Amino acid sequence: MKTLLQTPPVRECAATACSFNANGCHAPAITVASTGDAASCATFVESPVRGGIAEVTGAVGACARSECVYNTNLACTAKSITVGPGATASDCLTYQPA
Ligand code: SF4
Repeated sequence: MKTLLQTPPVRECAATACSFNANGCHAPAITVASTGDAASCATFVESPVRGGIAEVTGAVGACARSECVYNTNLACTAKSITVGPGATASDCLTYQPA
């Protein structure tokens, strides 16, 4: 069994209301979903609990936007992504439909 050492980092996230956001994303593996036209971050959560691992930079675990040019087999191949408000409070702004 292999584990991935490198998944696309969340370079920047402007969704500051998210519990995983403390000067950037610290969720070990976010999921990007397909809500309507948005490539929304399904890991976004508002909670009094501080989410994630402080020493870890957030990264993309899985992505349901199969039509994105960076998507291969529901995994993201972009060098990094940016997340911020769009159609939802936290969209993948790197999303590029083919
Ligand atoms: S860049 Fe494309 S493939 Fe990567 S997380 Fe965003 S929507 Fe998904």
